[in-house]
Amino acid sequence: MRKEPVKVKELAAGERSASFSEVVLGYSKDEALAEAARCLQCKNPTCISGCPVGIDIKTFIRQMTENDFSGAYLTIRKKNNFPSICGRVCPAEYQCRKACVLTRKGELFASLEAINIHFLERFVGDYGAKNNVETQADKDKDLSRFKVAVVGSGPAGLCCAGELSRRGIKVVIFEALHKTGGVLRYGIPPFRLPRDILDAEIDYLRKMGVETQPNAIIGKVKDVVELFSEGFSAVFLGLGAGVPSFLGIPGDNLCNVYSANEFLTRVNLMSAYQFPHAHTPVNVGKSMVVIGGGNTAMDAARAALRLQKLNGIAPNTTILYRRTQTEMPARRLEIEHAKEEGINFRFLVQPVELVGDEADFVKKITCLECKLGEPDASGRRRPVPIEGSNFQLDCDVAIIAVGLQANQVLTKVTPQIKTDKYGDVAVTAEDMQTSMPGVFAGGDIVGGEGTVIEAMGMAKRAAEGICAFLRQTK
Ligand code: FAD
Ligand code: SF4
Repeated sequence: MRKEPVKVKELAAGERSASFSEVVLGYSKDEALAEAARCLQCKNPTCISGCPVGIDIKTFIRQMTENDFSGAYLTIRKKNNFPSICGRVCPAEYQCRKACVLTRKGELFASLEAINIHFLERFVGDYGAKNNVETQADKDKDLSRFKVAVVGSGPAGLCCAGELSRRGIKVVIFEALHKTGGVLRYGIPPFRLPRDILDAEIDYLRKMGVETQPNAIIGKVKDVVELFSEGFSAVFLGLGAGVPSFLGIPGDNLCNVYSANEFLTRVNLMSAYQFPHAHTPVNVGKSMVVIGGGNTAMDAARAALRLQKLNGIAPNTTILYRRTQTEMPARRLEIEHAKEEGINFRFLVQPVELVGDEADFVKKITCLECKLGEPDASGRRRPVPIEGSNFQLDCDVAIIAVGLQANQVLTKVTPQIKTDKYGDVAVTAEDMQTSMPGVFAGGDIVGGEGTVIEAMGMAKRAAEGICAFLRQTK
């Protein structure tokens, strides 16, 4: 058995960092087969328990080794509506790959490493889409008379819509923005998730009969009670966590201080990297500074550096993070990619002021050095600022990526739906039902910022809950 994993091809750092083309190129058929052949086909596969939607990983990999790619695709689709997306963005190293038996063996034998399950899933997902492999509908005649409203078109909303639609339920998705996809469209840049892949997965849902209504903010244009009176028998809320946090320091309101959400929305959703061919611009500086250590910070910094290069500006983008690289929540792969592309990292640094010029444009950022103290509630060692260690960096564009909170536009006008102190919607664990009868919720609006596949896992549970609720409905 081959022990070393098959490396996936990537665009060279110099080439990719001046474009928004996809960085990770995926496996060829031969590479996918070689990687699949490394799977031990364990009697009791532990990897499946690491996947939030429980894909039968062992079976789909075996089908690959038998050259049955259509079968592998159908096996994955039984549990995951979006294999081409998850194969690209899933933090598999914390999920299925972490639970792969080779991860444990690899601690003993350095040459062993977990199977690249996500790259295999990506290969199979792309194969299924290219070859129009059809999944079987699982229509339930007792349910096909119902209509369900899904609010929000991120991974939670899309997944719930897919699950309900394949049972024959009529689904309408209401989305506040003019395009569907949620963070997959406005947050994650095309160099990680090409838009044709996202569009193909959403088109698949439309072909199944799911209707989408963009530019519809539920809670403004109409509320949840009105949805019921329009004939919807149940409602799913996949509202996400789209409200950015700021630093709460002097200078937060200066010009050219962006939230990562606004910056990425301008770049990804409104295609600012194609300005003036696209209508929406974004300001690009000579010294761009991103504050934060999660996936959002990596995406914002990598987009900022690309914009500098595309605008003929010498690349100078710096990430400031209060702890060290070990505590960074971003995926390891994204951190490595950012470093290869030339992003500067300053660890153990806490901004205390954004300093503006006479026209109120940010020009400098004042920071304190930090050291690591005792672990805090998150289990990570707390950053402790060192008194008197102040220093300044040039900064003519600052991008704040220090967290996201619940979007409460809908819940504020719907007091029947109970929320917690963060504005997250409270649900029952088993079927994701809110305190309002017939209203279910899942994704980041429930647990705070999580992952794409966790949001989909909750949406699947909610879809089961909705079906059970509808069966009891007269
Ligand atoms: P969202 O994707 O936020 O979608 C919610 C949707 O609801 C939005 O389209 C919003 O416009 C809409 N909406 C909100 N309120 C209303 C309303 N009242 N009426 C109508 N529509 C409404 N996870 C990973 O697994 N891998 C990654 O690599 C990764 N990278 C990330 C990068 C960034 C920049 C960000 C911000 C997050 C990243 N995540 C990643 C996290 C992941 O994207 C989220 O956990 C996931 O998108 C949550 O899905 P969701 O459907 O709950 O919410
Ligand atoms: Fe792993 Fe994500 Fe695929 Fe599940 S969906 S098998 S966690 S890559």
